[in-house]
Amino acid sequence: MFLMNDENKKRSYKAQKVIDRLGKKLNRQMVGSLAACVHCGMCTDSCHYVLANPGDPTYAPAYKADKIRKIFKRHYDWTGSVLPSWVGAKSVFTDEELEELKDTAFGKCTNCRRCTINCPMGVDFATFNRMTRGLLVHVGIMPEGVEYVSKEQWEIGNQMGVLKEQYLETLEWQEEELQGEVNNPKAKIPIDKMNANIVYTINPREIKHDPRSILDAAKIFYAAKENWTMPSEGWDMTNFGLFSGDDDLGGAVAGRVYEKVEELKGKKLVMSECGHGYRSTRCEGPNWAKKDIKFEAESSVITMLNYIKEGKIHVDKSKNDSSYTFHDSCNNARSCGLTEEPRELLNYVVGDFREMYPNRAENFCCTGGGGAMSMSEYRPRRLQSAIVKAKQLEATGTKYVVTSCHNCVDGLNDVIKHYNLDMKVTQLVNLVSNALVI
Ligand code: SF4
Ligand code: SF4
Repeated sequence: MFLMNDENKKRSYKAQKVIDRLGKKLNRQMVGSLAACVHCGMCTDSCHYVLANPGDPTYAPAYKADKIRKIFKRHYDWTGSVLPSWVGAKSVFTDEELEELKDTAFGKCTNCRRCTINCPMGVDFATFNRMTRGLLVHVGIMPEGVEYVSKEQWEIGNQMGVLKEQYLETLEWQEEELQGEVNNPKAKIPIDKMNANIVYTINPREIKHDPRSILDAAKIFYAAKENWTMPSEGWDMTNFGLFSGDDDLGGAVAGRVYEKVEELKGKKLVMSECGHGYRSTRCEGPNWAKKDIKFEAESSVITMLNYIKEGKIHVDKSKNDSSYTFHDSCNNARSCGLTEEPRELLNYVVGDFREMYPNRAENFCCTGGGGAMSMSEYRPRRLQSAIVKAKQLEATGTKYVVTSCHNCVDGLNDVIKHYNLDMKVTQLVNLVSNALVI
C-alpha cells in the first residue's frame, strides 16, 4: 500500500527494500506494539540512556520507537492513509535516513526491555527495535562489529571465530587442570559421548578469555558424578541473531546446537551462564530454526541448584567469605523469568549476599546488552549511560558483583573500570566450584 503525496520523490534501492521487508515482518505482536503507543511517557524514565542524558529527548523510548513507527504508519496502517501528518506517518527515502535509523536502533538502545515492562499499553519497543535492526542488516546497514561477529558465527560456527582445534585443545588443557584439582588422573571432560544425561554448551568467550569457568563447571559435574559431555561442534549456545535481528542467523546457530544434541542422543541440553544465549537457545531458537525440540533445555544455574538440593554436591559457603551482590541479566530476568533460582543458589554458596536496587525484572542493563560490546563506535555513549549502573553497584557496598551472563561480565567490568569502583565481577559457577566440598 503506497500513498500519494510523497510518491513522486525518488527512493533509494535500500530504502525501498526496508519498506518491503517491514511488511513481511509484521505480525500481531509487532503491529500491536507499533499501533498501541499513546505517547503517555510512562516508559521514559525506565531507560538508562534517558536517566544518564537528562534533557536529551532523542533517548526517550517513544521517540526512538517513532523512528520506525512513522514508516509503519505511512505504508501499512490505515490511519497513515487517512491522516498521515496527524498520526506522524512519514516514509523513508535515502540511505542517509537509514544510517540515522541505524544510529538509533543500534546505538541508542540495548534492547533491554525495561521500557517494555513499564508500558501500560503493552508496547514492546525492544522487540520491534530488534526487527528494525534486522531490516537494516538485510540491506547491509549495520555497525562494523555486528557485521564482523555475524560473519564469524555464520562461517566458523561461533561468534568469536574459535577454530575446532583451539576449542578441543582448550578442553584438553582444562581436563588436565581438572585432574590436578580433584587429584584424579581419570577425571574427564568427555567429548561427543553418546547418550549422556547432559550435553553442556558454552559461550565462546569461555574458550577465548575465561577457560576457568569451563574447569569450574567440569569440577561440579565431576563432584555430582554426572554422566555429561561437551559436543565437538554445535557447542556455541550464544546467538548473534538475537542482537542483529537476523532470524536466519538465529535459526542457523540454534539449529546447529539442537542437531548436535540429537546426534549425540543427549537427554538434556544445559547452557552455561549467558543471558542472551539462554534466551536464544531455549526460548527463541525453536521459532527461528522452525524446529520442535524433543529434549529438555535448562540453564546451568538450575542444574547447579538442583545438585545442591538433591544432595548430589555439597558446598561450604564459608569458602566464599567476601560480600556479594547480584546483577540480573536483562535476558535472564526480564525475558525468561530466571530471577529466584540464582538467588537461591547464591544463598547456598555465600554468607554475605546483599540485593542491588532495583532488581529482578526491574534491574538496569549492564549497558553492554543487545550486542553493544561489539559496537565500538557507540562506546562513549554506552559508558556515559553506564553511570546508572555504576551508582547501583556502588550503593551495594559489596566487593563482588555476581552475574549469570558472560556478556554482563564484560559490560560490568567496563563500568567498574570506567567509574573506578572497588569491585570485581564473578559468576555463580565460580562461586559454586569454590565452595565445593569434594
Ligand atoms: S511505549 Fe507505552 S509507556 Fe511509552 S509512551 Fe508509549 S504507551 Fe506510554
Ligand atoms: S529497551 Fe532498554 S535501552 Fe532500549 S529504549 Fe527500552 S529501556 Fe531504553
